[in-house]
Amino acid sequence: MSTSSTPNVFTAALSRLDKARRFATPDGELIERLQQPLATLQVAVPVRMDDGSLRIFQGYRVRYNDTLGPTKGGLRYHPAVDLNEVQALAFWMTCKCAAVGVPFGGGKGGVVVNPKELSRLELERLSRRFIQQIAGFIGPDTDIPAPDVYTNPTIMGWMMDEYSRLQGRKVPAVITGKPIPLGGSLGREDATGRGAYYCIKEFERIHGWHPADIRIAVQGFGNAGQHVARLLHADGYRVVAISDSHGGVFCPDGVEVPEAIRQKNATRGLADVYCAESVRNCEHCTRVGTKAISNADLLELDVDILIPAAMENQITAANAARIKARTIVEVANGPTSPEADEVLHGHGIQVVPDILANAGGVTVSYFEWLQNRAGLYWTEAEVHERLRQIMVTAFQGIHGRMREHQCDMRTAAYAHALDRLNAAVEAQGTYSYFNHH
Ligand code: NAD
Repeated sequence: MSTSSTPNVFTAALSRLDKARRFATPDGELIERLQQPLATLQVAVPVRMDDGSLRIFQGYRVRYNDTLGPTKGGLRYHPAVDLNEVQALAFWMTCKCAAVGVPFGGGKGGVVVNPKELSRLELERLSRRFIQQIAGFIGPDTDIPAPDVYTNPTIMGWMMDEYSRLQGRKVPAVITGKPIPLGGSLGREDATGRGAYYCIKEFERIHGWHPADIRIAVQGFGNAGQHVARLLHADGYRVVAISDSHGGVFCPDGVEVPEAIRQKNATRGLADVYCAESVRNCEHCTRVGTKAISNADLLELDVDILIPAAMENQITAANAARIKARTIVEVANGPTSPEADEVLHGHGIQVVPDILANAGGVTVSYFEWLQNRAGLYWTEAEVHERLRQIMVTAFQGIHGRMREHQCDMRTAAYAHALDRLNAAVEAQGTYSYFNHH
């Protein structure tokens, strides 16, 4: 399976607007503004390694659009990070916040590194040095990072500490996804998976699904994938396949998800950052009939719901025609290429797009930022209920728009985002003043 972004991932991301603008009323200036990021920072991150040598990593931070509020988005540590990918991810964040009504703009960042090769102290030095390099670019009122692939609460805690040290005061609201004792929010850990789960519960209500009849495959068993699998399994859904970067397992009777999570995380090394264990080696989490499968095989399984929760560009023109799932819930960002979308739509496969399905993460990040600024912390039940309200309202609005325009759900989600962004631009009055005189 390819983990890298294709060179045109950003161009492909932008192409979604062409279709969506037909179902919204954006003015031409908004579409023009959305063609490029507001600001891009590329930095060198020199790190002293444990053996005394110096390595210089490349890092990026992109602030894409701040029409609706300070820019917001994750930081990724991965060898395949490049500017093109970061720009695409920052564009998706802009559309995601607008689609679900979170008052943030979009941003994203990353470092080109295989973090699994670093020691714990090297990882901490890298994280702190990266923050030193981007400190002038981020801030609680301008641009607020968060976790993404291969970054986690421990790393967010180091970053908040480093930023605060540079400012000479505690600034917890500069970053979200922090550990709870350092100003994190209850309910942030499972927020992305939980948001996707609320979307699936809406489908359950609409289609009258019986969970025990629904077979699910989850590609990627990290933060987002584990939690959506756990919540669905607890409701009686049959999670029949899971995978991670080493490959996957298929178990027709259903994977024992809590046990798979326990085993996958049992051998976490490096300050609880990365797992040495793979779901492939789970002994007690699967039953008779279990077989090893590749990540590519998992995508083509005969299941009801496919949940890509790993990397971009997994469902492409090359395999879209072989996808058998009737519903795809995009927990990963950008797992489906525009060409694949056409094929899936033609086959009547319903796709809940990333900018809706994984919006739970940024929504609870918004709650964390609010709590940090207020100095008042919410209960887990409050977080869950507020998240549920935002996800269900967004789902119903986008689903309704899809029905009204007879379009796919992704196009409806982008149209929803464009209308919200446009309302903010129009509220300034300038465009209408010049166009009505
Ligand atoms: P993570 O680092 O916790 O987990 C990533 C998982 O993907 C791991 O299980 C890893 O083994 C697996 N993986 C990595 N490369 C793979 C490959 N080539 N094939 C199959 N599996 C592979 O990351 P995460 O936070 O769960 O993020 C997963 C996806 O969800 C990303 O697309 C991310 O942008 C998106 N997302 C995450 C959040 C969040 O809050 N964490 C929010 C929105 C979207």
